[in-house]
Amino acid sequence: MAQNIALYGGEKVKTTPFGTGMRFGQEELTELKEALEQNSLFYWYGNKVKTLTERFREMYQMPYCVAASSGTAAIHVALGACGVTVGDEVITSPITDMGTIIGILFQNAVPVFADVDPNSYNMDPKSIEERITSRTKAILVVHLTGGPADMDPIMEIAKRHNLKVIEDCAQSYLATYKGKLCGTIGDVGCFSLNDYKQISAGDGGLLITKDAGIYHAALRFADKNYQRLADQGSLNRDIPFIAPNYRMNELTGAVGIAQLKKLPWICARRNAIGERISAAIKDLPGIEPPKVYDGCKSTYWFYMFRINEGLAGVSPAKFSEALKAEGIPNMLGYIPNCVYEYEIFRNQSGYPGSHCPFQCPKNGTTYEYKTGLCPTAEDVLRTSIRFGISEFYTDEDVDAIIEAITKVSAFFAESK
Ligand SMILES: *Cc1c(COP(=O)(O)O)cnc(C)c1O
Repeated sequence: MAQNIALYGGEKVKTTPFGTGMRFGQEELTELKEALEQNSLFYWYGNKVKTLTERFREMYQMPYCVAASSGTAAIHVALGACGVTVGDEVITSPITDMGTIIGILFQNAVPVFADVDPNSYNMDPKSIEERITSRTKAILVVHLTGGPADMDPIMEIAKRHNLKVIEDCAQSYLATYKGKLCGTIGDVGCFSLNDYKQISAGDGGLLITKDAGIYHAALRFADKNYQRLADQGSLNRDIPFIAPNYRMNELTGAVGIAQLKKLPWICARRNAIGERISAAIKDLPGIEPPKVYDGCKSTYWFYMFRINEGLAGVSPAKFSEALKAEGIPNMLGYIPNCVYEYEIFRNQSGYPGSHCPFQCPKNGTTYEYKTGLCPTAEDVLRTSIRFGISEFYTDEDVDAIIEAITKVSAFFAESK
């Protein structure tokens, strides 16, 4: 007979606190002190942002890297550098952070949402292809939760339709797709240094590319479209079109340098934890661990699995509650709804009192955003359970997570 679960008065699995640790230390302080001693915190004069982009580019074995003030900014810069402009369509994922979408709207381009794979939670290449029109300019791929999207077919589609591919790697540092690092496969890869990501500089963003044209356009786009010339101080302000100021400052760059050194072990540890959990729970009835494509590697920014209620004998909500009672904090779903169900899309109002960029004579078409647009994505959000993963978790912490999921699953499967 299955053990009684804590939710119904049984003994709780996890009674000790989860492992924690300091993310910042002497390395960051040393870099910060050096940054201040430069007597300038401007990236063009100092060495910290330059060093950070140089090291990141080396780590990813890419010819070019550009810094930005956030992940959202890096994505906007990538879109701008790829020439995305008024009336263009950008195909992207309905399960993502608004940071993926904001740059599209600021370019007065229109986000078009493709449905996702039911277990990798990433865009389904078939659905991408169905949504391509004569207006499509780019595919903005999100590698959600740290797990790679299915890049081979996506790149094949992009090539056939002459589309740019931008990879949103804000959750997927050092994740790999068939031996290639996520972010190096499309035209541009974008990363976030916000405080929740695998590494943090408070806020910040990075962009990598192998295309010299995109690199030069991105350098300008992140800096008001100014063209800074090699001799310090001179500057070409004769800009061709608007671009924001998304510059990274030297303090951010300094912290980024120190954080980057920790990235390999952080991602290796998260990968090991995630893979261990998946291996341990994959045969439980109605429990579907996140799908990682063959030959690929996730770096588990968070861990999200699905509950098939019919097979598991329990609803996702009840499972979540039972897991919490066992001492494993978790949330139901990820974002509350698909992005296209947010007010901004329901009302098709990118700007206050205006229906731009959705209803624009230049578009020559109309758009519809409503529930049902991406049924699999909606299903994923309704039936999944998510918990954070930390590189500081001990093996015993991971044991407890596995034990709790196994125990709750056994209890409901038996009482089915
Ligand atoms: C965090 C995140 C962003 C935005 O990054 P910020 O640095 O917060 O602007 C974009 N896309 C995804 C998928 C993210 O998780």
